Amino acid sequence: MKNLRTEGLVIRSGNYGEADKLLTILTPDAGKIPSIARGACKTKSKLAACVQLFIRGEFLFYMGKTLATVTQAEIKNSFYSLREDLFKYSYGQYFCELSGKLLEEKVPSPEIYWLLLSAFKALEEGEGDMEVLARSFELKLLSLSGYQPHLEGCLACGGEAPSYRLDYREGGLLCSRCTSSQGHSLKISLGVRSLLKKLITSDLSRLKILKIQPPHKKEIAFINKKFLEYNMNLGSCKSLAFLEGLAGEEDH
Ligand SMILES: [Zn+2]
Repeated sequence: MKNLRTEGLVIRSGNYGEADKLLTILTPDAGKIPSIARGACKTKSKLAACVQLFIRGEFLFYMGKTLATVTQAEIKNSFYSLREDLFKYSYGQYFCELSGKLLEEKVPSPEIYWLLLSAFKALEEGEGDMEVLARSFELKLLSLSGYQPHLEGCLACGGEAPSYRLDYREGGLLCSRCTSSQGHSLKISLGVRSLLKKLITSDLSRLKILKIQPPHKKEIAFINKKFLEYNMNLGSCKSLAFLEGLAGEEDH
């Protein structure tokens, strides 16, 4: 199969040489496709508008050995507002970076594709708290990758306890009897435990009704970061560092 026609989301778009764009396009059935759009930086190019970050389009690829060439494209949803607002742009870029780091090239992962698309839609609507959206996105991504934190009772003994610690290496809650002293566990409050469950199961489009207090948001952000770093070998995530900077400025 040399030609492939499919819908996709542009999750990376950078200039290459004088006139070309180097892209990563996430598709539902063919996974992440590294590709080039020749001449797309020229103002007259029909491809120019279709290969911007966050575009959802219908693409025709000519599949090369390492790099695919985008030969035709048509916009299905431009997600214009995500490129016009610094906060939406930054969160959108973080979601793209996270999905991109997680997925292998050309390995289909339709669930992650539809998750990312629904995150773009929620950002475009812009009605909820973007931090809450991001925490839910992270937890859903962890769950789809097989690393959903175990939150029902103690992971080791199965018992219910008045309080737990959350061990990111073991992947869930441990009671005080089962927590080892040199473990990799984090404090977790009761409220946060039930919020984590909500964030995993709620549809992204329904999160706008969920309000989370700043201290709880901080606790969840810390927990998610530990889980992501440990399980998904993320290395440095530039867009997350930038978002943390933005949140820090808001606090002052
Ligand atoms: Zn236990």
